[in-house]
Amino acid sequence: MISASLSFPLPGAQTLLIDADDTLWENNIYFERAIAGFISYLDHRVHTAKEVREHLNRVEAATILSHGYGLQSFSRSLIVCFEELSGAPVTPDNCRRIESFAQAIADQEIELLPKVASTLAELSTRHRLILVTKGNYEEQTGKLRRSNLEPHFSAVEVLPEKHHDAYLSLAAHHGCEARTTWMIGNSPKSDINPALRAGLNAIFIPHDFTWILEHEAIAPAPDGQRLLELAAFADLGLHF
Ligand SMILES: [Mg+2]
Repeated sequence: MISASLSFPLPGAQTLLIDADDTLWENNIYFERAIAGFISYLDHRVHTAKEVREHLNRVEAATILSHGYGLQSFSRSLIVCFEELSGAPVTPDNCRRIESFAQAIADQEIELLPKVASTLAELSTRHRLILVTKGNYEEQTGKLRRSNLEPHFSAVEVLPEKHHDAYLSLAAHHGCEARTTWMIGNSPKSDINPALRAGLNAIFIPHDFTWILEHEAIAPAPDGQRLLELAAFADLGLHF
């Protein structure tokens, strides 16, 4: 059961672990655009766009296991998908064109979600903020630098994967007390469920275009832990 409100004020300073992609700034919409461009370029005679997309989802899940997250991994998935569905190796020309879809994502300016900068500035006066993202270290820290949000965080964690054990290690490393620690993010699979399993509280802020590989049913909060859903990042200011 997800609460619509909590009994506040909370006692004292909290530790807020905050996701980045699609929580602080837009991210998945660029991938969706790139994938739409890729599907048009592949222009498959037999498979529908939906079938191509489903195949790509499977290829991406496998590539992530072997090569992790990030744009290089994404580019590799597009190439593998192209080869598997066209039944032939990519030509250098195909390769350049496919890599240009991933490059367009890299070239994208950071677009912060509404009121993110002012909300973080306010929260950081009362609480300890730690950025917790996953993916390629250079890509994620590069986006943080360009976002100008870095000064609000007392620490930054770029994890290879955000699972239960990663949250336990992170909480131990930063001396987070479970009762006063909250994971905040848009992904049920990476932000909410594993943080709850690790004994932390969680705040779910859904994004309309959350990546399909991050979808999952949200588990109820175990006894004594809290789970809240907010419509927008700025609403954190009402609760913390
Ligand atoms: Mg996210």
